[in-house]
Parts: sequence; structure tokens; C-alpha cells
Amino acid sequence: MHHMTLAEIARGLADKKFSSEELTKVLLARIAQLDPQLNSFISLTEELALGQAKAADARRANGESGALLGAPIAHKDLFCTQGIRTSCGSKMLDNFKAPYDATVVAKLAAAGTVTLGKTNMDEFAMGSANESSYYGAVKNPWNREHVPGGSSGGSAAAVAARLLPAATATDTGGSIRQPAAFTNLTGLKPTYGRVSRWGMIAYASSLDQGGPLARTAEDCAILLQGMAGFDPNDSTSIDEPVPDYSASLNGSLQGLRIGVPKEYFSAGLDPRIAELVHNSVKALEKLGAVIKEISLPNMQHAIPAYYVIAPAEASSNLSRFDGVRFGYRCENPENLIDLYKRSRGEGFGAEVQRRIMVGAYALSAGYYDAYYLKAQKIRRLVKNDFMAAFNEVDIILGPTTPNPAWKLGAKNSDPVAEYLEDVYTITANLAGLPGLSMPAGFVDGLPVGVQLLAPYFQEGRLLNVAHQYQLNTDWHTRTPTGF
Ligand code: GLN
Repeated sequence: MHHMTLAEIARGLADKKFSSEELTKVLLARIAQLDPQLNSFISLTEELALGQAKAADARRANGESGALLGAPIAHKDLFCTQGIRTSCGSKMLDNFKAPYDATVVAKLAAAGTVTLGKTNMDEFAMGSANESSYYGAVKNPWNREHVPGGSSGGSAAAVAARLLPAATATDTGGSIRQPAAFTNLTGLKPTYGRVSRWGMIAYASSLDQGGPLARTAEDCAILLQGMAGFDPNDSTSIDEPVPDYSASLNGSLQGLRIGVPKEYFSAGLDPRIAELVHNSVKALEKLGAVIKEISLPNMQHAIPAYYVIAPAEASSNLSRFDGVRFGYRCENPENLIDLYKRSRGEGFGAEVQRRIMVGAYALSAGYYDAYYLKAQKIRRLVKNDFMAAFNEVDIILGPTTPNPAWKLGAKNSDPVAEYLEDVYTITANLAGLPGLSMPAGFVDGLPVGVQLLAPYFQEGRLLNVAHQYQLNTDWHTRTPTGF
């Protein structure tokens, strides 16, 4: 039962082959048995899940239908869930029970999903390895000595290990696409403003975007359908109609113009990944796509710009965690300043503190122009590169990451080495564009992803290309040994 995709589950439930309650029990037992090897969950919500499953079965018995009605999922632990711990992977919020549901959580619950639990993540979504979590590192089911990617590593490891069919995740600089690549999943970061950020604990507000992690493009379409849409509670949410994503999957790729940026193949890219990228290009050419070399000349400046803008926004967003309003409070503070200092010093981990310091520095008087303002100018140049490219092509294709998943601990002493691994993903966040990573082969037994980028609100086009690719390849069907 645990091998089923969301689409297969929807058909099985509709045909009354099994109930949501039966499926939920199977998956909860599987999580209890196997998750100790992975550490992909921070909290399990068995009672909630069984209640939601029974309610979904009752709705179906009353004649309701829907692809998500009775579908088991999990939420990354930065989506607020009413009455349930929402930790953001941090000691700071270890005791925080959200007083309300995030819009994404509420929308998916209304569609009938069953929440099995809250997944592990890098602390405050800062990281690319899921090693900075207060709850310990997540292991990659493909090789438990390796990282699953981050910051949505818990969602990715759980879905890859078939503990559940799909999960929510968020992507500020790659945290949906990169763990998808490292664990052989399909993950989609929507256009900025497509999915509500209300109730999603903020890391860098101008970059954060929620989206689906699943095994197939077909399943990403189903989950995104339940997540997307205008939300008056989020001032950056965009009031655009949500298309039928599942209906977009079957378009022909005949004549589709795919741009491959020459800058993607410079030093730093593992040549074995380059070869897999070329293979995926050939596979899409066979389906009728036309390939064109393009250029994104400002790409080389994107990492330094991102690692100024994201920490700057984080330093501002995380100022609310002061030991007073919610979250961790130090013991016996001597005075107010001591309360602030020790609550934050003890409640935040090293990487979060590093980012707050970098961000506060970049925003401070005297340095603002030199760092923050300059980074914003680079951000515009990165966006302009994409706008020029999308005048010539319909989709941009390249690697999701320069290397496959590294060993646990390998980059702990060198944060910049980890930042450099985000080179292919962060440009989409800087520009606000949608991006998708899909399985495209293996290197040394570890999965490799190919990234597709599209113009604003063309999530359907990304899903279409990925689905057609998946109908003609079988990388996405491979299962890690032991799961
Ligand atoms: N690795 C990037 C960072 O640490 C992106 C994280 C994310 O997308 N949440 O900021």
C-alpha cells in the first residue's frame, strides 16, 4: 500500500479498494517502524490523522469526491498547525503550539488531506543539508551516511522512503528542489505569490514560497492544486486564477523551446551530473522539444547577493523571538537586556545566529549601500537575464545541484562550501520564478535532479514537461533499498 502515489491513492479510494483510515493506519505503523533510521519527523499527529481519515471516509460515503479527499500527507514544521507544536526545527520554538492554522494547512485540510505529522527541517529553514535542526540531522534513505538536502530534508526523506506519498515544503533558495534532487523526488517551487505565506514562519519574506514534494509531477500537480490561490491575509499573494494543473500534464512537447544556459556547465559542476543533464535534454528532444543555448550572464553574482538579502530579511524577521512574546525564555534573567540576550543566545543555534549577525551588519548604517543595496541591484540584473532568456525560450533546463548529496558532517566546518551548493536554485527565488526538480539518474548510487524553470505562473508548463519526461523514463520509480 505504501508504494502508491497520490494519484493511485485517489483512484483506490474512489473505487473503494481501501479506506483512508486503513491506509492511514498502514502508514503510521510504517513511520513508527522505519523513521528511527531517518529522523524525518519532529512530531507525529496520530490522533489528528485518524480523525481526519474517518471524516474523509464519511465525506466520500456521502458522495463527495476529490483527489485529496483522504490523502495522507505531512507538513514541514514551519507551517503553523493549530494546537500542535510548530517548532521550525528550533529550540526557540520547541514549546510553541500555534494558535491557528497556516492558510496552506487550512486549505489542504478542507480538501480532505490527512496530516500524519510535522517534518524535520533545518533550523528556521536555513541550510542545504538538514543538519542544523535542533532535533538532529535527517538521513538520506538512499544512503544513510549522506544528507537528504535541506532545508525541507524531513519532508523529502519521508516521501522518498515511502513513509507517505507527498508532503508540503518551502523554498527560499532551493529547499524544495535541492532535497528533491538528493532523494529522487519531484519538487516544485511555485511563482512568488502563488501560494499563501500566511502562517508559514518567515525566513526571508521576499524569497519564501511553499510548494509540494512528491514522487511524480502528476502528484505535485494534485498537491499544488490544494495549496495555491489568492489569500487576502498575505499582502504578497497574487490574485490570479489557479489553473487546473492536472489538466496541463498531457500537452505535447512538440516545438517546445528549451534553453540550456552555457554558464551552467562551468567549473564546479560534477561532470557525471553534466552527462545526466545532457541525457535528459536528449530525451526531451525525442519528444519534440527544440534545444537552444542561452546565457544568464549575471548568474555568478547570485550567491553573494542571496547571502546578503536572505540574512538581512532573516535578521529582521527573527527579531520577534525575544523571550517575551512566545517561544524559549532563559532561566532567571537579571534584567530585560539579559532576558533578550540569553533567550536568543540559548534558543538559536549557530547557523541562525551567524545569519542574524550577517544580516544586521548588512543593514546597518554605513554598510547598507555597500551590501544590501548592491545585492538588490544584482537581484534586478538576475531577473533581467531571465526576462531576456524567456523572450527566446519556453523553459530553461539545467542541473538542480552541482554535486550529489554529500556525507553527513562533510561541510559542517565550512558554511560557505554549503552556500555554494545552492548555485543553480537561488536565482529562481531572487527573480520570483517557478522551478521544478525531477529525477534524472544516479551517481555512485545517489540520485541526481534536473531543474526546469519557467516564466511567472507557468507552473502548468513545468508539470507538463516533467510529466511527459516521466512517462518516457523510469528514474522517478526507483526506490531506495530497505524502504
Ligand atoms: N540553502 C539556502 C539557505 O540556507 C536555502 C534554504 C531554503 O530554501 N530555505 O538559505
